[in-house]
Amino acid sequence: MYFGSALNGLERRVDRHLRSEKALYWHIDFLSAVATVREVWRTYSLENAECCWTELAETIAEASTPVLKFGSSDCIFCKSHLIMVTYKTQVNLITRRIQEYSRSSGLACRDILRPSSTEI
Ligand SMILES: [Zn+2]
Repeated sequence: MYFGSALNGLERRVDRHLRSEKALYWHIDFLSAVATVREVWRTYSLENAECCWTELAETIAEASTPVLKFGSSDCIFCKSHLIMVTYKTQVNLITRRIQEYSRSSGLACRDILRPSSTEI
């Protein structure tokens, strides 16, 4: 799972990621040139949520960061914005936590990220 942001043109950014013909510039360009995109999730927010979502995804059991600083070379918070999970149940859990986070405006990211023992 890759987490990115596009504060100036989300649809253009997603379209670019999905295009096969493009200059290879960002880390995700190199990955998308050889990998298949399965799902794209979008949300509109005034805050840059990619780091929060990445941190959230890292809390899922057996999630890992296969490439350090992938998509996060200028990020001071994250080891990577690319998270590897194996099972659809992990993806579903991450999706649910992101939805919970998105609905809970006013909560700091760390407040929503603490996993409950029943979910992991
Ligand atoms: Zn980050």
